[in-house]
Amino acid sequence: MPLLYSNQGIKPKIEGGTKPHITMAYFVNLWYCFEMQYNRIFDLIVIGGGPSGMMCAGRAAEKGARVLLIEKNKELGKKLSMTGGGRCNITNAEFDTRAFLANFPESKEFLFSPFSKFSVQDTFNFFEKKGLPLVVEGRKRAFPKTQNANDVVAVMANFIKKNNVEIKTGVKVTAMTKESDGNFLIETKSGENFHGKKVALASGIGGEGISMLEELGHTVKEPNPNLVPLTTDAEWVHALSGISLSFMTIRFRQGGKNRLKKTGKILFTHFGVSGPLILNSSFEVKKLLDVGHVIASIDMFPDTEENELDRRVWRLFELNKNKILKNILPEMMDKAIAEQILNLPDINIAEKPANAVTKEERKALVKKMKDLTFPITGTLGFEKALIADGGVALTEVNFTNMTSKIHPNLYLLGDVLDINRPSGGFSLQLCWTTGWVAGTDAGNLK
Ligand SMILES: Cc1cc2nc3c(=O)[nH]c(=O)nc-3n(C[C@H](O)[C@H](O)[C@H](O)COP(=O)(O)OP(=O)(O)OC[C@H]3O[C@@H](n4cnc5c(N)ncnc54)[C@H](O)[C@@H]3O)c2cc1C
Repeated sequence: MPLLYSNQGIKPKIEGGTKPHITMAYFVNLWYCFEMQYNRIFDLIVIGGGPSGMMCAGRAAEKGARVLLIEKNKELGKKLSMTGGGRCNITNAEFDTRAFLANFPESKEFLFSPFSKFSVQDTFNFFEKKGLPLVVEGRKRAFPKTQNANDVVAVMANFIKKNNVEIKTGVKVTAMTKESDGNFLIETKSGENFHGKKVALASGIGGEGISMLEELGHTVKEPNPNLVPLTTDAEWVHALSGISLSFMTIRFRQGGKNRLKKTGKILFTHFGVSGPLILNSSFEVKKLLDVGHVIASIDMFPDTEENELDRRVWRLFELNKNKILKNILPEMMDKAIAEQILNLPDINIAEKPANAVTKEERKALVKKMKDLTFPITGTLGFEKALIADGGVALTEVNFTNMTSKIHPNLYLLGDVLDINRPSGGFSLQLCWTTGWVAGTDAGNLK
């Protein structure tokens, strides 16, 4: 009869000397070995192959634990590869932990303990030792010197592979339950089940992870995407994808009233609008959307009164009497934007020569340049949210090792935690710190 061996050297005992006498203990042992090999009992199962999950898995395996990492996407670190506009703002180079944590006003008291174990300096050392030096830019934002977020993903993927973490990509966890022996049963959409002595939930904000936590008795604040691009169904906006307007004012209207006004730069995208100014408005816009329709209005010339703008447009038309408008308006704005405005159904004068434009048509055009409206239909949601608030209540987490106070063999990492923070590398530092502290603890097999 073949003997089944686990990674940890557990094997069925054959009692009774040379002539095997099969006892109950033999079957129990055999069953256990079968579980180890085929139904997979791991020391640690990490759910989510983002930055916090990869850090935790790699660190626990480095310490000797048998680790399984489950990621629902086909590849690891998909969101990480998009961070910082593809450059990855990997941390914030504020090396004084107290000053760093001042950016987490509501949670700093909780975070002192994990940050005393893995700080910003440790992040610099971690990546530099793995051949990815960092550079610091304005507002202390640190990026890989290669300016490529994919290099960060590669370092993390290499870290877990080198330490023999078993990786399952394209596998979605659907349920996590506590078994009578204290282990966790992890069920997946494909029907494959796994058992873990410990589990680290690193599934980010939103999605199944949060509902699994609620089922395990945790208090979870409903996640809300905070810094997130806005969507519209106005096709002319989609057509301007990739173009930005550097100095303009945007107003968000509801019920005919201006509710929010910001000045700066916006970026048109194939789904709507984005850029820092939009992201920073999104939380308030989302609240408006919850109660009704929202109209965005762009003033492309915020420093110029409508009368003065009308005079400028009139002069432009006078100087180019015989030219068609789509060829002369680009003197005042980006060519693609000019073309879209001139072709709007209520303007529709792109092909007219300047001397054929009526006064009413010119005034309507000028009005449009000061009040270019489009409906806001929603936000892009969690996947594209730079920061989302919500997550597990911090009072339910033991921050000395990042475990749940309700289930001490469950680790809670990264965006799963209800921690508000600004943009600038703070979110990823939170992932490196919580992932490393949890991995160190979970890898301790004593
Ligand atoms: C466009 C963009 C740019 C950003 N730029 C920056 C930046 O430059 N600097 C910064 O500090 N922060 C940035 N952030 C925020 C940062 O990306 C997040 O804070 C960080 O990724 C959170 O890491 P995490 O490991 O907690 O979760 P995530 O990165 O969200 O990873 C969670 C993983 O779990 C997987 N998962 C979820 N549910 C399941 C399931 N049921 N089964 C299996 N797998 C599952 C997901 O597919 C995902 O891969 C940015 C965010 C966005 C959207």
